[in-house]
Amino acid sequence: MPVRNPFCITKVEAWPIALPLLAPFVVATGAMAVAHNVFVRVTLRNGTYGFGEMAPFPDISGEDQAGCLRVFPLAAKECLGQSAIHFRKLAQRLREVAGQTPAVRCGIETALLDALCRGMGIPLWGLWGGADVRRRETDVTLPIGPLDQVVETARAWYARGFRIFKMKVGLEVDEDIRRIEAVCAACPHTTFVLDANQGFSFDQARECMRAIERFHLPVLLFEQPVAREDVEGFVALRRRGTIPLAADESVRSVEDARRLIERNAVDVLNLKITKCGVVESMDIAGLARASGLGLMIGGMVESRVAMGCSWSLVLGLGGFEFLDLDMPLLLSGDPIQGGYEYEGPVLQPWEGSGLGMEMRQEPSSVIVVE
Ligand SMILES: [Mg+2]
Repeated sequence: MPVRNPFCITKVEAWPIALPLLAPFVVATGAMAVAHNVFVRVTLRNGTYGFGEMAPFPDISGEDQAGCLRVFPLAAKECLGQSAIHFRKLAQRLREVAGQTPAVRCGIETALLDALCRGMGIPLWGLWGGADVRRRETDVTLPIGPLDQVVETARAWYARGFRIFKMKVGLEVDEDIRRIEAVCAACPHTTFVLDANQGFSFDQARECMRAIERFHLPVLLFEQPVAREDVEGFVALRRRGTIPLAADESVRSVEDARRLIERNAVDVLNLKITKCGVVESMDIAGLARASGLGLMIGGMVESRVAMGCSWSLVLGLGGFEFLDLDMPLLLSGDPIQGGYEYEGPVLQPWEGSGLGMEMRQEPSSVIVVE
């Protein structure tokens, strides 16, 4: 008699959730006051379950909550009756049926990986080898805003121990530079990652880099200075400037990563599981490391569920130099209990199975695929 696989997926659920931010999150391409995300729960035959999160950011990825909920049943059906052990095969299948909605892939992949690891009794990072299990410091994001307000926000984070600021730029070069200078003056011994979210033209990006160099501003990395398709813009900026460049919106697949690597266009790739799911993010990480590129990891506006999975990649795969895992700190509440914790800017590894998390509240309206 065949042994019944305890890791067989028997039920996949999804429900919408609203996550209000402490303050509106303003980037070059748009703004968000409440993250309208989707939580996912995958249940296995032996009753073990795991959680995942879809975090669409309409102004960045073009995805939204309604679209995710619409695609979800189709993607979930692909997983029913399959073993979570075959998560690579399932991820490939999800890419085929939900390629245009990577947030859906991310949510389902995370949930089935969490369920698998809970069933195995190991933390999610353990599945990937535990290459770099230690406490790590994250940056904290300063969205675009009036100078006084940004300085005040920076001071508050500084008082809580944050020393790396991820400064959103990309609307107006002079104002961006003034904000960096003001935060520098208010918060000594801090460093910056700049993120233009594709907001600059090539000339503006060049002007911004020149100003940073001229004023000796402590900028570690300049992220997505130009439009997503503008690989040659990256190449030209990199040739002329001294500040390391990172691609974010320009790298949403293995194919994107390969193109950037072939053109020698960037120094660092910023991975986000919401852009291409968990498994493809791992593949990009492998490609980047084999090619000598640096790794950054970030997220959309999301809770500790999606971010816990990203933190697992850092702990499990190793090799991540830049951590941008602050988003749950910018939310006004935490819908999760258990899991990893923040101590000021420091993320702590956890020892519990999977993500080690539970929902604080059972959802009221759930889409069930079983
Ligand atoms: Mg970015």
